[in-house]
Amino acid sequence: MTQQPAPDALNDVRMAVREVCEKYGNEYWRRMDHDRSYPEAFVKEMTELGWLGALIPEEFGGGGMTVTEASVILEEINRAGGHAAACHAQMYTMGILLRHGSEEQKQRYLPDVASGALRLQAFGVTEPNAGSETTRIETTAVRKGDKYVINGEKIFISRVLQSDLMVLLARTTPYDELENKTMGLSAFIVDLRTAGDHLKVQPLDLMFNQHTNQLFFDDLEVPVENLIGEEGMGFRYIIDSWNVERILISAECVGDGDWFINKAAAYTSTREVFGRPIGANQGVQLPIAQAYAHVRAADLMRFDAAAKYDRGEKCGAEANMAKLLASEASWEAANVCMNVHGGYGFAADFDIERKFRETRLFITAPINNNLVLAFLGQNVLGMPRSY
Ligand SMILES: Cc1cc2nc3c(=O)[nH]c(=O)nc-3n(C[C@H](O)[C@H](O)[C@H](O)COP(=O)(O)OP(=O)(O)OC[C@H]3O[C@@H](n4cnc5c(N)ncnc54)[C@H](O)[C@@H]3O)c2cc1C
Repeated sequence: MTQQPAPDALNDVRMAVREVCEKYGNEYWRRMDHDRSYPEAFVKEMTELGWLGALIPEEFGGGGMTVTEASVILEEINRAGGHAAACHAQMYTMGILLRHGSEEQKQRYLPDVASGALRLQAFGVTEPNAGSETTRIETTAVRKGDKYVINGEKIFISRVLQSDLMVLLARTTPYDELENKTMGLSAFIVDLRTAGDHLKVQPLDLMFNQHTNQLFFDDLEVPVENLIGEEGMGFRYIIDSWNVERILISAECVGDGDWFINKAAAYTSTREVFGRPIGANQGVQLPIAQAYAHVRAADLMRFDAAAKYDRGEKCGAEANMAKLLASEASWEAANVCMNVHGGYGFAADFDIERKFRETRLFITAPINNNLVLAFLGQNVLGMPRSY
């Protein structure tokens, strides 16, 4: 069982991450967004300082931090006006290796992921015919001697061009041959550096600066030693990583929510219309206060989920509720901030429209909030299943 960090330890993390973020101000992130560039310098510095290897145990060269501490790192990036989604996956994609990889795989990859010598921040699951319904994926991995041969298509796979390695979920048993539909999928480490023409990467044009792609696999060979854990167990393994991802994303939403609220409170306290600050009007002030209360409530759920995870307790319900509440709260704060800025909310140099586009993703991905609610209804409240 992991001990919870003392509040002071969290403050130390906050202060140290803030120091880095101060060097990469709004202008930096605005330029990245405008040019659709990858924030290479920021990610490099965060990696070199060990922040993105926070969850890798010390024996593999990582920070050995708790999920609570790690979540504060991402929260602070977003609170400072940055975009943690550009690098959050370097923090948690390795979790599947840590929990289910062989000792040899851990030794082979984790120290280099911790140091940043290897980028592992691509996770290939979603397909054109299988989004929320992961067990329907069609990309196949067929064993031929000491290799698996991969064929198929993925969509919305982020940071493939910025990664050396990708965790891939592929089908090793045809769907119709399975009694239990959650079996038959396997997880692999794909070395993107040697994929060559067998993997075509088609960048997608999205509404914000997220380096997301469609992938086409054509007889891509993956050595058998790159299978993670047991064949057919891949779906179970990725479910194990969902709670951490949801907790970390909740923290990013909290950071975003605070950024929007701070911006809205500051602007409305000074912007004068009809001879007084607009923030004195209850129609302006109360929605900001309401959004603030919702962010704080979501933050409690996030810390509750993180503490449970760190203590080794079950936290599926809390992690899902944290993601639901935090994504709704940050989206509410985004809309309030946009509203109270009038026309200026639409101006790029106010950064609101950029953060507004960025924070909207969390309602939809990595899992849609509808599916979170269905999980709560079915798995926590014991109600009838819709799927
Ligand atoms: C910017 C971005 C980055 C992404 N990065 C990655 C990545 O790196 N790797 C990866 O694998 N995927 C990634 N994704 C994919 C993301 O995880 C999926 O988009 C998400 O899981 C939803 O799948 P879908 O888009 O196919 O929606 P669908 O599954 O088609 O769902 C469409 C709508 O129907 C609703 N719905 C479906 N079934 C039900 C039901 N039973 N009850 C109620 N509502 C239902 C959903 O909630 C949703 O609102 C990314 C997506 C985006 C937009």
